[in-house]
Amino acid sequence: MECSLTARDRVGIQDFVLLDTYTSETAFLDNLKKRFNENLIYTYIGTLLVSVNPYKELGIYTKKQMDIYMGVNFFELPPHIFALADNVYRTMTSESSSHFILISGESGAGKTEASKKVLQFYAVSCPSTRLLDSVRDRLLLSNPVLEAFGNAKTLKNDNSSRFGKYMDIQFNYQGAAVGGHILSYLLEKSRVVHQNRGERNFHIFYQLLEGAEEDLLRWLGLEQNSQKYAYLIQGACAKVNSIHDKSDWKTVQKALSVIDFSEKDIEHLFSIIASVLHIGNVQFEAGSRGYATLNSNEEIRWLSKLLELPAHVLREGLTHRKIEAKAEEVLSPFTVDHARYARDALAKAIYGRTFTWLVNKINASLANKNICCSLKSLVGLLTLLVSCPISFEQFCINYCNEKLQQLFIQLTIKSEQEEYELEGIEWEPVAYFNNKIICDLVEEKHRGIIAVLDEECLRPGGATDLTFLEKLEEKLPGHPHFITHKLADQKTRKTLGRGDFRLVHYAGEVTYSVTGFLDKNNDLLYRNIKDVSILLCFKCLTEILMSKEPWYVRCLKPNDSKQPGHFDDNMVRHQIKYLGLMEHLRVRRAGFAYRRRYEVFLKRYKALCPDTWPNWKGTPAEGVKCLVEHLGYKPHEYKMGRTKIFIRHPRTLFATEDAFDIC
Ligand code: ADP
Repeated sequence: MECSLTARDRVGIQDFVLLDTYTSETAFLDNLKKRFNENLIYTYIGTLLVSVNPYKELGIYTKKQMDIYMGVNFFELPPHIFALADNVYRTMTSESSSHFILISGESGAGKTEASKKVLQFYAVSCPSTRLLDSVRDRLLLSNPVLEAFGNAKTLKNDNSSRFGKYMDIQFNYQGAAVGGHILSYLLEKSRVVHQNRGERNFHIFYQLLEGAEEDLLRWLGLEQNSQKYAYLIQGACAKVNSIHDKSDWKTVQKALSVIDFSEKDIEHLFSIIASVLHIGNVQFEAGSRGYATLNSNEEIRWLSKLLELPAHVLREGLTHRKIEAKAEEVLSPFTVDHARYARDALAKAIYGRTFTWLVNKINASLANKNICCSLKSLVGLLTLLVSCPISFEQFCINYCNEKLQQLFIQLTIKSEQEEYELEGIEWEPVAYFNNKIICDLVEEKHRGIIAVLDEECLRPGGATDLTFLEKLEEKLPGHPHFITHKLADQKTRKTLGRGDFRLVHYAGEVTYSVTGFLDKNNDLLYRNIKDVSILLCFKCLTEILMSKEPWYVRCLKPNDSKQPGHFDDNMVRHQIKYLGLMEHLRVRRAGFAYRRRYEVFLKRYKALCPDTWPNWKGTPAEGVKCLVEHLGYKPHEYKMGRTKIFIRHPRTLFATEDAFDIC
């Protein structure tokens, strides 16, 4: 425990809500830094957990540590992700309610690791029977499979998730995990065909080449050397010290067999992955009339075998487009550029669909098959990625994050204030940054960016990326969050190209190039609308989240070079700002850490007072009043709302919990 003054000076405080001096951003930063330097990466703001990525193993996730945190009140031990997971679990089992843990932060901040730790904690700590052990294993093993296909090395993170993920863990009445469901959204498919320097394609390609036995590679027509494949060489970093493709391959193989993939499924899966590599090696040259012709038959032969398609169909599909004219189909030849574009589109589509198929298979394996054990409640795990900008896909991802940030504001700060109002609790309102203006800028009917883009895509003749940009400039002059070369002041103009626009997101300014926006939007609108439509995915997420009680983990990145022990003040300060941590702290400090409906509170604690036990005759509110007076709550420690009791500090509640345990 961190209790003596000297220790406190050295290691800072473990909950920002507790100390009066920690109201400025500088003091907040200092406290985080002090703790980080002592390898204390976790700090609370009430029940919100702030985590700073240590970029080194700290030995704090062992089974022994799990045992320490199991069943212990939140604030009695140093802050930990296990404490949060345990608290969520206990609230869920005692109140039969559903919850979700939202883990957010920028790429490389530690979100994936945090979600894995929560999952591991549940896998070890929840009661189980042999029947349920299999669900547990599957929940754990779905992770390496999803990571192999959905994660990649980026400049910021060697194991970066390139898709958004929401995972439900389902529990039964005994509190045992009985099933799960994964929702994936916005896989970064463009990575399949293009990687920036210093980045890699999805891990699975390298794992296959490094780990697969010679027989399998021969059967797939692949060579072990990744340098042979056009889709794997652009980043010029196939080998990375921290990534062990060979052993990861083994883990994935084992995982696939545990989560019900048959040998046939696995064979299909790797045929398709190998096909993507073969497609990438298909090259074109201009024929006599300038149209694209294939310059080798080798790749087509392998593709034909692996995809089980006749070679002539593949050849035709890669070099021609089918046009329907007067009920007739006419083949129109591609130029070399068009053929390359079509080739890459095919590779992306194949990979995207395989990923969706994979997630569906995993879901089938995680489904709660035991109809006798009725479901009780859920814990959802949502990891939010904040992506680095520029392209259309990243625009979609940033928009999704913007919406989820709006949801976060609604769920925490706004709803907190509204609840006090609704309950008639006296309260000094806290100002907060509402990002509605930015969401509107993207999604508003008629003049929002998506509406203008859709309109431009449907306009017959002459619509280009640049006319789209001009339309935006016409519709959004003077918008405080939208800047282009034309709309900018002289100084800013120098930093923008003519085909760029800049959005002032809640997390900072981001410059996008309009190149490819029309094409990709067409792609989205007409081909993959169900698969990736942001609005649909968002609507589904909002519905899920609004029906559950939220818990938050905010992950911070201490530096940009993945270096252990280095804390970059400016970088962390920026994240504190855009993650809204100061606002959250202010709301928490001014408010009440705990609130419970009178019925729930009374039901749980009525045994502690002879007047309320066993049956209280009056209203639940009167019962709670009688109960807390008997327990000696001081007037400043709690407030009585219309339907709930509000308790200022968790310690008050924990003292009550302890009394309850003793009795
Ligand atoms: P994100 O999902 O936010 O992009 P990750 O969870 O993948 O980030 O973390 C990036 C890397 O940082 C991990 O691969 C790991 O090396 C390191 N890391 C993250 N969290 C921790 C932690 N709690 N302890 C030790 N290392 C960590």
